[in-house]
Amino acid sequence: MTDRLYYSDSYLTEFEAQVVQREQVGKFLEVRLDRTAFYPTSGGQPHDLGSIEGHPVVEVVDGPDGSVIHRLEHRLPPARVRCQVHWPRRFDHMQQHTGQHILSQAFVRVASLATVGFHLSAEYSSIDLEAAEPDPDVLRSAEDLANSIVYQNRSVIPRLVSPDEAAKLHLRKPSRREGTLRVVTVEDFDVSACGGTHVRQTGEIGGIFINRVERLNRRTRVEFVCGRRSLHSHRRHTEGLNRIAKGFSVAPQDAPDRVEKQAQEVKTIRKRLKTKDQWLAELLAQDLFDRAPSIGEVRIVKHQTEGEERSFLTLLAQRLLACGPCWVVLGNSGEQAQVLLARSESLAGDLRPVMKECSLMISGRGGGSPALVQGGGSDPGRLPNALDRAAERVSAMTND
Ligand SMILES: [Zn+2]
Repeated sequence: MTDRLYYSDSYLTEFEAQVVQREQVGKFLEVRLDRTAFYPTSGGQPHDLGSIEGHPVVEVVDGPDGSVIHRLEHRLPPARVRCQVHWPRRFDHMQQHTGQHILSQAFVRVASLATVGFHLSAEYSSIDLEAAEPDPDVLRSAEDLANSIVYQNRSVIPRLVSPDEAAKLHLRKPSRREGTLRVVTVEDFDVSACGGTHVRQTGEIGGIFINRVERLNRRTRVEFVCGRRSLHSHRRHTEGLNRIAKGFSVAPQDAPDRVEKQAQEVKTIRKRLKTKDQWLAELLAQDLFDRAPSIGEVRIVKHQTEGEERSFLTLLAQRLLACGPCWVVLGNSGEQAQVLLARSESLAGDLRPVMKECSLMISGRGGGSPALVQGGGSDPGRLPNALDRAAERVSAMTND
């Protein structure tokens, strides 16, 4: 059993310890000490980082025998060693973790919602509530209550209690552990069984802010940030919102309505554009067909558009084929070059080799069926030449 120094002092970052066991496992040296301030990954809280004799500790886990295993990539002597816990990461975890106790209790007080899961990731923390998504009033009330506990700078006290004593405490969540229990009390607010690291006073948490709520089957995941994370998250969100507001030339608080309005407008415009494309394809097809050169009854229609969507080429080809027997040679130039070749069903000839030749000219590729091929390439400058070549090839096929 390793003596866990963080149980009694989560602010301890420098300590000396005796190496009691070293074992090479894969690429890591697994080190056990007689005592440690390093927190191993458990209870939703990630492990600490830091160093032993100046060598980085890359991972800390609970051993099966009650020991704490420190994983290093360097050798260590079997001696007394000086150890250092990386404080910024530890303190961040203390802020998130203590914030979690308070937020979970706040949900109990505000809406009798129990927390059934906790996760602390690099970006955000989250709790899972055993409920469908709470309404915004509940979220706001819980957040308000949690922050008032922070402002009141209440004491947070960890202590060890006997099973008898534990039974008399109103733990937020019953513990399944047997024997002596570590209990963390947020003064006159929350009592939880927990082995994690916490701040001494709630004021150190800085603030508890819910960022996002996500429905997960019958549970609800509440993502939140505390401490420095909330400052960073506030900055990120404010910068994003300000950018959007600036783009629309509106005040930040008006930006969401403006974005929604814009999205609605885009939807309406797309719908109108689709209708207009159909009319345009109809008119353009008839005009191109009438003016196209013919070999006998068969027209050879060649046309290049600029900056159209691929779907417009398809639409135009459909309309052209409906006009009468023809070969269709269409191209569109934009950032990329697009080619569509088609023929009436009544004509014979395989368009695939023609497409292959065209694609090579525009540095791209394409394919399809003998009667309809499409392709694209990265050289729009050579598109007119490619279309000319395709028109020559289909003329030759008509003459055959
Ligand atoms: Zn805790």
